[in-house]
Amino acid sequence: MLTDNHNRVINYLRLSVTDNCNMRCQYCMPAEGIEFSHNKELLSWDEMFLLASTFIELGITKIRITGGEPFVRKGLMDFLHRLAAVKGLEEISITTNATLIGEHIAALKALGILNINVSMDSLDKDRFNAITRRNYFDVVYNNVLQLLQNGFNVKINCVVMNGLNTDDILPFIEFAHEQNVSVRFLEEMPFNGHSKSFEKIEWDFLKIMDHIQQHFPGTHRMNDGPSSTSENYTIENRRGSFGIIPSFSRTFCGTCNRIRVSAKGELQTCLYTNESVSFKKLLQQNPHPDLIKPFILKAIHNRFKDGFEAEEKNEFKKSMSLIGG
Ligand code: SAM
Ligand code: SF4
Repeated sequence: MLTDNHNRVINYLRLSVTDNCNMRCQYCMPAEGIEFSHNKELLSWDEMFLLASTFIELGITKIRITGGEPFVRKGLMDFLHRLAAVKGLEEISITTNATLIGEHIAALKALGILNINVSMDSLDKDRFNAITRRNYFDVVYNNVLQLLQNGFNVKINCVVMNGLNTDDILPFIEFAHEQNVSVRFLEEMPFNGHSKSFEKIEWDFLKIMDHIQQHFPGTHRMNDGPSSTSENYTIENRRGSFGIIPSFSRTFCGTCNRIRVSAKGELQTCLYTNESVSFKKLLQQNPHPDLIKPFILKAIHNRFKDGFEAEEKNEFKKSMSLIGG
């Protein structure tokens, strides 16, 4: 079992497989994109597999594949095949914009990868396309329906942005009922690839909750898992559920069980830090688990207490596409 210097069990790895993306979501990166990594800067699939297997040996039981957009990188499905066979790994999940997942649905199902989080920030086609700066609304919507019809456990992630998509909150509550899914509203974080940082946000947890409860008074708190980042609720006489992720307010750090590895092989132990340990060179010099384990352990034994402590040294220039959410 992996435990950090604050006695938190670390069993969850968010593994970014690329920083590239076919969308340009306003809250994630500028319209012109970011400086995407060259292929040779990324971990190769073999290096990524070795690193992931080493984390599993150390006690990671759950891996979420993220990016950039994971399905943009060729070879993802082969990698998932290999990963799914590793002993000790209990769950693989994916966070995706669902533009390219359609053709992989059967293969994912066969691998038992059923937990898929889809980023969808509006149910209104024009608004969705304006937020993502691309025209994929119909593809994404149809793929979400396909995933649901195929029995996947789909969660919709919606970043709530003042003046952009707050009119979508109530339609998403309706959507959760109609489709019997979970919709999670995320507080916007300052990871948009600009230097713009924000001291506070307009639509925080309390405001989102208040808005929903004014229209749907019968909300009931669900029993969230021990390290859940979302507070989840059902609504009386309605199917599905909704959650709010206080990613800006950071009330969940005390039970944080997660670490992140970027597509370039940088281990980041808190979302809000700029500090990382780079594994690319190490893996090229000597691709052996015993060589990298001490570096992993050292980083995990030096974690920040919470995102506020980590933030003190951060400049907020990163795009979430580099970090993986
Ligand atoms: N491309 C995939 C997607 O969009 O789902 C995976 C990568 S994306 C960086 C992972 C998650 O980060 C998504 O749910 C996205 O909504 C979230 N995200 C990106 N930028 C964010 C921001 N500035 N604040 C809050 N969440 C953000
Ligand atoms: Fe791409 Fe996901 Fe970032 Fe949107 S949130 S630009 S889909 S990486």
